[in-house]
Amino acid sequence: MQILDGKKLSKKIEEYVAFETKELKSATGRVPGLAVILVGNDPASHAYVGMKKKACDRVGFYSVTHEMPENISQEAIEETIKMMNQNPNIDGILIQLPLPAHIDTTKLLELVAPEKDVDGFHPFNVGRLTTGLDGFVPCTPLGVMELLSEYDIDVKGKNCCVVGASNIVGKPMAALLLNANATVEVCHIFTDDLKKHTLNADMIFVGAGVINLIKEDMVKEGAVIVDIGINRAENGKLVGDVDFENVSKKCSYITPVPGGVGPMTIAMLLSNTLKAAKLHVKEEA
Ligand code: NAD
Repeated sequence: MQILDGKKLSKKIEEYVAFETKELKSATGRVPGLAVILVGNDPASHAYVGMKKKACDRVGFYSVTHEMPENISQEAIEETIKMMNQNPNIDGILIQLPLPAHIDTTKLLELVAPEKDVDGFHPFNVGRLTTGLDGFVPCTPLGVMELLSEYDIDVKGKNCCVVGASNIVGKPMAALLLNANATVEVCHIFTDDLKKHTLNADMIFVGAGVINLIKEDMVKEGAVIVDIGINRAENGKLVGDVDFENVSKKCSYITPVPGGVGPMTIAMLLSNTLKAAKLHVKEEA
């Protein structure tokens, strides 16, 4: 069994982004800029935004966080997004999810200019992904594909089982795998007999948010296991959706939690923001 080391690869990607940022700055005088919208007091959201801000600082990006109270109005967030859409120093806009219940998340995601949609959540970019066109791809599944590529794991012709079907994880993961010529099955909370599906898979990609959802007896010998889940265990430790201790004895490759997909997500946010900045520079020229 080999560990798919997302921590190591994310460092390599950060070094590349930092280098490219320097080059862009010396050629054009500008650096990539990321605006983050953070609403309310959810500790996990604050922790994620903090990590993203630190990563921006490490690679030399300009970044700004618009912190808003829990009871902020829809209109006020919309105004901020419109401002960021117009701001030439901002290349990427990220709305930290989830948002409070009174906010229309879809409407906000649709308001982000597609060329600044570094999270890849705008329907324009979702459409480009499903049709196999270039665009912005959601950071977590994009990070998974980078990780597989780093370890020369080809998904072409493989039976891939994606567990979880959210717009930010499961669905774009399935689209990327399909675009790379895998045979893809998508399972979710209403899937009957999950084990039947996972046992048939050469590769399992799980992002459900359920501790120990994938157990040893659900995994084929030699399978590749990508654990996207991030959960807080009773003892306070971060764990994924896979019973790592027992599944790792049976599989060929596995991502640890933490240190697997998580750091790759942040690396891909940096990479998408750099891509947006380069596109904007090209358009301005
Ligand atoms: P979500 O709640 O929006 O979606 C969860 C999906 O899992 C749904 O499609 C649901 O049907 C499915 N599901 C839930 N329970 C299931 C079960 N028992 N069997 C089969 N399917 C089941 O969550 P999300 O935002 O997609 O996040 C999923 C997990 O991925 C969470 O643990 C989250 O913290 C993690 N996540 C990690 C990263 C990262 O950077 N590694 C990024 C985003 C989300």
